[in-house]
Amino acid sequence: MAGITLRGLTKDYPGGVRALDSLALDVADGEFFALLGPSGCGKTTLLRTIAGLENATQGSVHIGGADVTRLPPGRRDVGMVFQDYALFPHMTVADNIAYPLRIKKRGRAERHEAAAGVASSLGLDGLLRRRPGELSGGQQQRVALARAMAARPRVFLLDEPLSNLDARLRLEARTFLKRLQRELGVTTVFVTHDQAEALAMADRMAVMEAGRVRQVGTPAEVFRRPASLFVASFIGSTPMNLLPGRVRGEHAVLGDETVLPLPDGTRGRVGEGDEVVYGIRPEYLDFLQDTAGAGKGTFTGRVAVVENLGSSSLVTLEAAGGLVHVVVGEGREPAAGDRGRARPRADRALLFRNGGLVNGGGDATAESAAMGERPG
Ligand code: ATP
Repeated sequence: MAGITLRGLTKDYPGGVRALDSLALDVADGEFFALLGPSGCGKTTLLRTIAGLENATQGSVHIGGADVTRLPPGRRDVGMVFQDYALFPHMTVADNIAYPLRIKKRGRAERHEAAAGVASSLGLDGLLRRRPGELSGGQQQRVALARAMAARPRVFLLDEPLSNLDARLRLEARTFLKRLQRELGVTTVFVTHDQAEALAMADRMAVMEAGRVRQVGTPAEVFRRPASLFVASFIGSTPMNLLPGRVRGEHAVLGDETVLPLPDGTRGRVGEGDEVVYGIRPEYLDFLQDTAGAGKGTFTGRVAVVENLGSSSLVTLEAAGGLVHVVVGEGREPAAGDRGRARPRADRALLFRNGGLVNGGGDATAESAAMGERPG
């Protein structure tokens, strides 16, 4: 088991694409670490470069304190699971799982014993003689995991291993994978497109953009205190409301008529007239079915759309300052065309200036309890 240290990591593909750009990252020993970011930001390239399947153009990869930058994949002690599982179709489940040990030239008896042990821990006992084509998506995923585990690597690299599963299986596999990782304590780097998955599973995560790491933190930290407008707009299943305005005295004025108290932690950090962006998640606005004191401390306007989210609704309010999305609990939702107000929770509001967060550095650990109720 081992931590991963990346320094100045750059990867240029032929044709001039810079997929990784002087990237630095530390993943702690035994950590479950998620990589998130828009398509093409370099997540897969990063995993492949850690695994040694791509050579770094510049920079270094250390695993467990040892410099592995120039070592071939087979000597890095890394197990990788790909999105499509990359199982050998002509081999049985047992032979697929034992494959890494065959590469390591272990004896037949040892290979089969190890494969059977791993298969059993993943609930695959009855399937050892089948071929991948005779398995469900969830079973194939487990075989791919078993194959990565069989060689007992120090590091697991998982590239969207759950994306081929349907919603129900995915949830099951997520719980399973998380438990397995806990039990094995193997340092794991996990690429996903699914934010809810990253927020639910990861000990810490990195948000990437254009080959660089933009923020590293616990899911609670990144969700509550996005370091930049980019991270704020990327994280969250219902996007954060981000409205431009100016500082006037103790207030942020958005679109001339919406006057909101400055969010907690921003007084003294912004100056009169500063151009800012006011950020508040739809979950942290209280909807009021009246228009008293329009615009003072609230967004006020007409309800344009009400969308059913199941146990709540997403209300779009046409306020001075822009469209504002509000999550409203069951039974309290207005009708389209109604007028109403949305009041931000000052302790949850954020202020950005020049693209960066003004009220950063809050104590996000105290907030992690609430995360379970409101996954992004
Ligand atoms: P996605 O979420 O869509 O899988 P990603 O974040 O994993 O994307 P990468 O696959 O790492 O991104 O790609 C990063 C950049 O490198 C992209 O611009 C991509 O087009 C480019 N790229 C990836 N592989 C190669 C390659 N073999 N040759 C040339 N360019 C490549």
